[in-house]
Amino acid sequence: MPEYRKYWDPELETMSREELKEYQLKLLKETLELCYAKSPYYKRAFDEAGVNPADLNRLEDLKKFPTINKMVLRARQQEVPELGDLICVPEEEIVYISVSSGSTGVPTASPFTYQDFEDFQDFQARLFWSSGMRPADRYCHALNFTLFVGGPDVIGAQKVGALCIWAGAIPSERLLAIFQQWKPTITWTTPSYAWYLGETAKSQGIDPVKDLNIKKIFVAGEPGGSIPETREQIEALWGADLYDYYGLSDIFGACAGMCEYKEGLHWAEDHILVEVVDPDTGEELPEGERGEMVLTSLKKKARPLVRFRTGDIVSYTTEQCACGRTHMRLHGIHGRLDDMLIIKGVNVFPSDIEMVVRKNKDLTGEYRLVVTEEKHMAVLTVEVEHAPHLYGNTQRLAEEVQKECMKIIGIRPRVKVLPPDSLPRATHKAKRVLDRRSRPA
Ligand SMILES: [Zn+2]
Repeated sequence: MPEYRKYWDPELETMSREELKEYQLKLLKETLELCYAKSPYYKRAFDEAGVNPADLNRLEDLKKFPTINKMVLRARQQEVPELGDLICVPEEEIVYISVSSGSTGVPTASPFTYQDFEDFQDFQARLFWSSGMRPADRYCHALNFTLFVGGPDVIGAQKVGALCIWAGAIPSERLLAIFQQWKPTITWTTPSYAWYLGETAKSQGIDPVKDLNIKKIFVAGEPGGSIPETREQIEALWGADLYDYYGLSDIFGACAGMCEYKEGLHWAEDHILVEVVDPDTGEELPEGERGEMVLTSLKKKARPLVRFRTGDIVSYTTEQCACGRTHMRLHGIHGRLDDMLIIKGVNVFPSDIEMVVRKNKDLTGEYRLVVTEEKHMAVLTVEVEHAPHLYGNTQRLAEEVQKECMKIIGIRPRVKVLPPDSLPRATHKAKRVLDRRSRPA
């Protein structure tokens, strides 16, 4: 193998935190000025909040500016068809829109200029390179191409120089046939699908470790890729390394991803400015604390996002990574605010339970959370499956899971241990919460 350079963009990826902040401030000023001058929505919102781009002298001044969220994007699109009034360029300059899946309502479009799209793909190439993709790799892109921003990510892999197979979202038998015939070394999917696909292969007599050539799996869309127990199990199933990615359709396909050290997801702070705030008060939280992630795009021109509240709960560190990159790292996505359950006053994320379930070797790893109501109180039941090798009394297992939940999240849920294969298997995005309350809180 030839000697390749270590970084995709050495200057950007390893600049000192001070230089990075200075660069961000310059880009942020340009973005705010563009928004104020060209977008009727931003002009009005800034005026109403009594701020304008001249008020930004330090990065910290950004918190004076108003936030937006998915509801705002949707409402502005309906009010000012078809692309809304957060747009900062004439439509002639827009070359691509991705459309979000619409799982939480009316789909919204994310527009790109030619340069936005070029930046997007250079950025995807940077992430792929940092996860170890090289020109000798064969990459099978198994994400949906239809309208979804993850589709064009394959172009980033071509920029790296990998041989790319544009598979898209196809039935698992066909995907496995591609894996057998063309022997790709890397693929990208969700954690639940990676699990499902590995088990499907085994059920067809294909050993993912010996019969296939997958060395790396990129995952996104669910917290699993950053839960060590889940990651290790998928890695063992495939004999491959798992790299977690984070994407937000309103900015880029992938916005952050793991480097070879897999100690959190590197953000590209020259493209996106990250704040973490208390979801209730909106106050900024210090490094290391869990809060809602708020993103500001720094280079996008078609529709810049200023202080976009993602609804994703994260924590981060700015400590320098062993790989030498200086950009901040997320400690994974702990969950979405929408998925958060409040049980006896405690915030519970399905990913916390997943960590407990996947750690226990006497369980299959599948789980479901069922929320019911008793005397106006929410009651959480964790349904798990015992492993096939286990017979007899499952009481001990239930108690182990309860004890571990108490330790990790501070509540003692009910635990129901079911026989293997009782719970529905997830394919793409897993639905693991069943809320049976009459009025979900
Ligand atoms: Zn790193």
